Amino acid sequence: MKPFPRAEISCEALKNNLARLRQIAPESKVMAVVKANGYGHGLLNVAQCMEDADGFGLARLEEALALRDGGINAKLILLEGFFRSVDLQTLVEHNIETVIHNEVQLDMLEKAELAAPVAVWLKVDTGMHRLGFTPEQFDEVYARLEAMPQVAKPIKLMSHFACADEPDNPCTSKQMTIFKQLTNNSPGDYTLANSAGTLYWPKSHGDWIRPGIALYGVSPVIGDLGVNHGLIPAMKLVSQLIAVRDHKAGEPVGYGSFWKAKSDTVLGVVAIGYGDGYPRNAPEGTPVWVNGRLVPIVGRVSMDMLTVDLGFDSVDAIGDEAVLWGRALPVELVAEHIGTIAYELVTKLTPRVAVCME
Ligand SMILES: *Cc1c(COP(=O)(O)O)cnc(C)c1O
Repeated sequence: MKPFPRAEISCEALKNNLARLRQIAPESKVMAVVKANGYGHGLLNVAQCMEDADGFGLARLEEALALRDGGINAKLILLEGFFRSVDLQTLVEHNIETVIHNEVQLDMLEKAELAAPVAVWLKVDTGMHRLGFTPEQFDEVYARLEAMPQVAKPIKLMSHFACADEPDNPCTSKQMTIFKQLTNNSPGDYTLANSAGTLYWPKSHGDWIRPGIALYGVSPVIGDLGVNHGLIPAMKLVSQLIAVRDHKAGEPVGYGSFWKAKSDTVLGVVAIGYGDGYPRNAPEGTPVWVNGRLVPIVGRVSMDMLTVDLGFDSVDAIGDEAVLWGRALPVELVAEHIGTIAYELVTKLTPRVAVCME
């Protein structure tokens, strides 16, 4: 028997999505972003499925080491860089590349005695204003890195978009212009494009694209769907009905008793709740897929279960599958109902959800 709830991950979909992004950005290498446990899809499994990627982007050193421990020999890049000087030795030992975005990292690098130079991606803040050196600091920082024997040459360059998921927002073009002006004469590879850049801003593709969410078959843009770009949702979050109950008009269900049936109906109880990472704030009407149609959540999502209105003529039975999102019900649509983004839904699943590779 398969465990439930479970997240079924399609390796085939991941491979399709990687190939599709290569078609969309044919001149670029692909740094597949697999941070946060492969966006909730399982870090090592995802990396194994996408062994064709030119490298993997991680947020934390622990994530990179988990890939090395799992036998992944590909290029690995720490997108937030290292936080302690001892970590520099680990980067060299395991051949991990790092982003450099602040003064403290520069100082640590300058003082380090390393067995081999470390490959660095100098991060420039072109408008996100979160990480990176300002355009005014660029020349000086670049020269400092250039002078360090601890740094492999040529120095590579990156920046991150703030509004690439808004196709009409001029801020992305502005960021590209600033980046180009600063870095035009630098010989190293550069990367700008996250998923939104990859899908919506072809001019941003550059030497490397850095897609995350799109690899999992999901669009980064509200109101859009991954399938519109030839991407296939890689995750199917599925549980089952553990109760099916006749329910009279006027009767409430669940904590707070705030929802009451308008007419006689049949309610289904699905074994998934906020203890699994399904958001408690999912409102009435959030869709769940049961036996070929969408049915609405009614009442409050609780820790281990939620209730759906199956309709008075329902023939659903205990043990039937209930799909919270997947190919039949894109996670983007569920996110819209809940008032969040698909990124949050897929990354927030708890360890109680079994991740199963298909
Ligand atoms: C997470 C991340 C990405 C991937 O972003 P998506 O929107 O998921 O494509 C790319 N670059 C950096 C620096 C990131 O932190």
